[in-house]
Amino acid sequence: MELQHGPLLYEGKAKKVFSTNKSDQVLVHFKNDATAFNALKHSEIDGKGSLNCQISAAIFEMLKKQGIPNHFLGIENETWMLVQKVEIIPLEIVVRNIASGSLCRETPLKNGFLLPFPLLEFYFKDDALGDPLLTEARLKLLDLITTQQKSEIEKLALAVNDSLKNFFQGLELTLVDFKLEMGLNCASELVVADEISPDTCRLWDNRCEDENQRILDKDRFRKDLGGLTEAYNEVLSRIKGLS
Ligand code: UDP
Repeated sequence: MELQHGPLLYEGKAKKVFSTNKSDQVLVHFKNDATAFNALKHSEIDGKGSLNCQISAAIFEMLKKQGIPNHFLGIENETWMLVQKVEIIPLEIVVRNIASGSLCRETPLKNGFLLPFPLLEFYFKDDALGDPLLTEARLKLLDLITTQQKSEIEKLALAVNDSLKNFFQGLELTLVDFKLEMGLNCASELVVADEISPDTCRLWDNRCEDENQRILDKDRFRKDLGGLTEAYNEVLSRIKGLS
């Protein structure tokens, strides 16, 4: 059966999801929109959708080879990806190796502090509430996942961290932190979904000492540093073995 485009199912800040004629597959279109601070800051950046789509595809393929289940099925073209239809769990699963971003705003830890262990945190995925950080007790209270699912999610997130850390280290990039979304596919299997890109990971260039120049992720947009497409292009070039 040839794949056919269906109607728009969902539009998020950076992606659009379309149904297909296969009930267990959807098409994702990566947009050029950049948002930060719960969408208070917004801009269109030429080429960003294509870069994130290609980077995400390469990372999902790498993870698949390592046995890490994810929704990726194939790349259709520069900005379109075919993925398993997944019911997203409304949690943002953040793993941190180095202190940065909100961890530094909310604790005395300084930007760049090497954490003694990967810090795994759950945020409630809800724009209206500003994606709040959940305590263990609140996570239990909201009853979004079972105890068994929680331990599966934690195991999967830490496995992704190990794989990604190694992968990026090989490209002379340091994985500071990242956000994952997970969900259940049509076979009720827990899989990594959404995207894994410089929009959702902090990546620092090991070839560069300067605190701002080394930033190759969305912090370039958050901090008004400019050069976002150049930075994402550098990440993609290293992934492709071109740089
Ligand atoms: N992140 C994300 N989407 C969000 C919030 C965070 O992809 O809605 C990523 C972010 O890019 C970083 C990690 O999760 O790699 C940790 O983000 P942090 O809590 O430090 O938040 P921020 O500093 O972006 O407010």
